[in-house]
Amino acid sequence: MDRLKNKIAVITGGCSGIGLGTVELFVREGARVMVGDIDDTAGAALEARFEGQVAYRHCDVMQESQIEGLMAACAETFGGLDILFNNAGAGGSPARLEDMTGEAWDLSQNLLLRSVALGMRYALPHMKARGGGAIVNTASIAGTQAGAGPIAYSVAKAGVIHLTKVAAAELARDGVRVNAICPGLILTNIFTPSAMMPAGMVTMIKQGMAQTAPDAQPIAKPGLPEDIANACLFFASEESAFVTGVSMLVDGGMHVGPRNAW
Ligand code: NAD
Repeated sequence: MDRLKNKIAVITGGCSGIGLGTVELFVREGARVMVGDIDDTAGAALEARFEGQVAYRHCDVMQESQIEGLMAACAETFGGLDILFNNAGAGGSPARLEDMTGEAWDLSQNLLLRSVALGMRYALPHMKARGGGAIVNTASIAGTQAGAGPIAYSVAKAGVIHLTKVAAAELARDGVRVNAICPGLILTNIFTPSAMMPAGMVTMIKQGMAQTAPDAQPIAKPGLPEDIANACLFFASEESAFVTGVSMLVDGGMHVGPRNAW
């Protein structure tokens, strides 16, 4: 408890799934949290649930001015900004290169990669004013190996991993650490059919998830938002004071291959 006492955090995509699990954990650990998301109904409910500790602001992370506004709103509302969890995202479509369009490509890069760069860009002045900070970016196992996600999504997430290293090298002089988390399969609303994740792709992934029981990955169950939130807490807290530029897989061991059958 109190591992984030007196800390002020921005969490993008905090209305659902991994982001929501992290909001809940950060609040329990004493932080005040500014949530940026496009789900205004869920955002209002979050504010009411954690009155005084959570504030919500509409922020489409594809809009640069809204990202800048989110960071400024956090500083105005809570008096500063110490932690940024760059987490908002959605699945990508299409799955295959041969179905790709430039528009679909740009959408994934803007939503998943450009948003992370701009989030760091606009959080930085506020963190410098506090003498430093911690940034955590959500990448994906799909950014580390082929076949774990749609093509533009996977390449954007690989970009987040490298962006994390480049930013860690630059921002260390400002006392800002930058790390990333690469979730494996985590049960969230991302697997609900949408424009970015058509029904066919959801079915395909859910079949894949079913295969993770019992033997497709060493820890044979899908992950939960709190599994990622716990990793995020480590990177956000002083316990990781000597850690920067790391991208940590939190994937039930999926990256090592299937569970041994013997
Ligand atoms: P989710 O759908 O439960 O939550 C995503 C949140 O982001 C929602 O609240 C949504 O409203 C918000 N969002 C979507 N587009 C936005 C935009 N343009 N601007 C601001 N907010 C926006 O999904 P999740 O699984 O919790 O996803 C969170 C992150 O984790 C994403 O970056 C995703 O790519 C990544 N991820 C998820 C998994 C998984 O298995 N669930 C695996 C690897 C990586």
